Amino acid sequence: ATPTSIMVGTGRAADLGVLFRKGDALQALSQTDWVVLDKTGTVTKGAPQLTDLVVADGFAKDSVLAVVAAVEARSEHPIAAAIVKAAEARRLTLPAAEEVRAVTGQGIEAVVGGDRIAVGADRFMASLGLSVEVFADIAARLAGEGKTPLYAAIGGRLAAIIAVSDPLKPTSVEAIRRLKAMGLKLAMVTGDNARTAQAIAAEVGIDEVVAEVLPAGKVEALKRLSTGGKRIAFVGDGINDAPALAEADVGIAIGTGTDVAIESADVVLSSGDLNGVADAIAVSRATMANIR
Ligand code: ADP
Ligand code: MG
Repeated sequence: ATPTSIMVGTGRAADLGVLFRKGDALQALSQTDWVVLDKTGTVTKGAPQLTDLVVADGFAKDSVLAVVAAVEARSEHPIAAAIVKAAEARRLTLPAAEEVRAVTGQGIEAVVGGDRIAVGADRFMASLGLSVEVFADIAARLAGEGKTPLYAAIGGRLAAIIAVSDPLKPTSVEAIRRLKAMGLKLAMVTGDNARTAQAIAAEVGIDEVVAEVLPAGKVEALKRLSTGGKRIAFVGDGINDAPALAEADVGIAIGTGTDVAIESADVVLSSGDLNGVADAIAVSRATMANIR
């Protein structure tokens, strides 16, 4: 690759809102076999809304929501923001939460008014010795709709199932169709519930899904997909995507994402639109074709 053609290529990409932070990323991107996408904030908007709250016998909706929101008010997770917003919309007063403990990729717990409150995924409840079996049918239905089922426990008793829904970005379906038409293989990786992830993947036309993984699990997934010398571009926006962005042959960060993700990436998209990924690969291929 001549320095001039690389310069022209990165210039064309810049016009399309794609910033190449390293010149050699242009060449690496032209050889990509797999485009692996984070789900939350990458394929979806990353702005979930609370959609469902079903309480167990003996619990009342508003009082459950108030204590759960009190705990989530201490979390930075997008799910937490959705729950706090829902409590505010119902004009609930949030009590104070103490002894907060957040568990990455699982949930959060704290003490509110003397009771220990836990909110999070089924595996978080399991780690606390709580069965979520009574909500199995509801959870399956919610996840099938692409919603994320969460559970709340109050004082050691399962109190509610809560669902949040994170809508697709309006451009995701088209961008993924373009990437597939370019002959690329597509996969999605996420810390979210497996059934939820499958439902979202089906909506956008992705067959390969790795779900319920921690940040290190995203890196493991990339290693598996690269078997046999396959080249991988990974697209993500969050702190939990930084290790995968660094591991991939080309890390592509959503420009509206977190600073940690952007710093770990080789390529940065100026907007959240995944069409930028297709544009970047098209420019890289055109540039390398002219050189060869
Ligand atoms: P993602 O890859 O989708 O960004 P995370 O690793 O951030 O996922 O979280 C994975 C899962 O852990 C969430 O889908 C949720 O079930 C649970 N979780 C994490 N933090 C919280 C929280 N503050 N409140 C409720 N659930 C949480
Ligand atoms: Mg994300």
